[in-house]
Amino acid sequence: TYTSAKEYIDAVIETARRRDGNKQEFLQCVKEVYYSLEKVIDAHPEYVKADILTRMIEPDRFISFRVAWVDDNGFTQINRGYRVQFNSAIGPYKGGLRFHPTVTPSVMFFLGFEQTFKNSLTGLPMGGAKGGSDFNPAGKSDGEVMRFCQSFMTGLYHYIGPDTDVPAGDIGVGAREIGYLFGQYKRIRIAFENGVITGKPRAYGGSLIRPEATGYGAVYYTNEVLNHENESIQGKTFAISGFGNVAWGAISKIVELGGIPLTISGPDGYIYDKDGIVTKEKIDYLLEMRASRRDRVQDYADKFGVPFYPGKRPWEVKADVAMPCATQNEVDLEDAKKIAANGTRYYIEVANMPSTSSALEYLSARENIIVAPSKAVNAGGVCVSGLEMSQNSQRLSWTAEEVDTRLKTAMKDIYNNSVDAAKRYGLGYNLVAGANIAGFEKVADAMMTQGVY
Ligand code: GLU
Repeated sequence: TYTSAKEYIDAVIETARRRDGNKQEFLQCVKEVYYSLEKVIDAHPEYVKADILTRMIEPDRFISFRVAWVDDNGFTQINRGYRVQFNSAIGPYKGGLRFHPTVTPSVMFFLGFEQTFKNSLTGLPMGGAKGGSDFNPAGKSDGEVMRFCQSFMTGLYHYIGPDTDVPAGDIGVGAREIGYLFGQYKRIRIAFENGVITGKPRAYGGSLIRPEATGYGAVYYTNEVLNHENESIQGKTFAISGFGNVAWGAISKIVELGGIPLTISGPDGYIYDKDGIVTKEKIDYLLEMRASRRDRVQDYADKFGVPFYPGKRPWEVKADVAMPCATQNEVDLEDAKKIAANGTRYYIEVANMPSTSSALEYLSARENIIVAPSKAVNAGGVCVSGLEMSQNSQRLSWTAEEVDTRLKTAMKDIYNNSVDAAKRYGLGYNLVAGANIAGFEKVADAMMTQGVY
């Protein structure tokens, strides 16, 4: 028994440290979520009795498998594949696959844990999962990527299915990889189960708006935040990191709504386009850069004659809104201080857990800055994945307008539910805690009714 909610949470974190002390990103994420639940735990002694928090940090299952493939020179290469099926209280496991050299069990655990709450926030029946490999797609030929994907799916297919676990893309996994993965699944299963994976090309069950969904959803959410301050996207400047699918989707929608994206970044540095990344030619060039798989934004600077800052991140640029769209922990305390010093009013996390704990703490404590958390802001991607599953189950495809309308409604609901959840527990206008609470409540209540497991 515990004398306070805080004491219980501390004990759970201690368990996490004992079991998963070597998983830094995971521990960071668990602490961030759990310490914001203190008032919820306080109000629900039954969660403590059922030890819901400890159950939630132990994935249902964690799968690791060898991925062997032959490169273009005839040499065998070995990577490691993962799938972490975190929680299935409210629906089949759902979450993307990330192919990137930084993929480790810790990254998989943090993403799978985070996904559980994110998926709950979407309002659709999806559990939480994540997977991937330490495979580096940069510089690989088409044939190499295909052989890798086929081998990866051969290892993975035992564990997935349209009602079991539904992967999708993430960093390093786009339409091309999804195609190869689905092709191999279909070949092994001898069944056309296109609901087994989302983010498919349109021709065999992909949803319209899925490629744009994460970025569009992030901007719809941002719109809600701005409306709350009686402001709008029109005329606002944006500092954006990343240059992939998420940054592209966000930039497209920002420009449509009259905002001015000033930067993008890659592993090589960032570019600053003072006229804004606003023309169709510039926005389309983002797609070309991504397709080239060179991981270089300097190409944009060369093409459009704008300044390039090698090895730097864009947070030194003065902008109304800062939107990290690259990867975890890309914004550290030093960056956070620059963002605050620039007079930035809105810090909108888009990549999964883009802020270090100290950066998030620093920015959350600033009176003049509103912080929006990634698990709410980027939920539009998996939300439209859920809608793709619905279409596949119906064997129908919806119009772009229908999907977009549902996405807009979902983002509005996520925002409102987060605001309400924080208010209900006397936490004021706190989008970070609100998202954690709203996402948690639904999963916890479902678990409470399903017996001890
Ligand atoms: N990888 C995306 C995410 O982080 C999308 C997952 C999905 O569509 O299943 O939410």
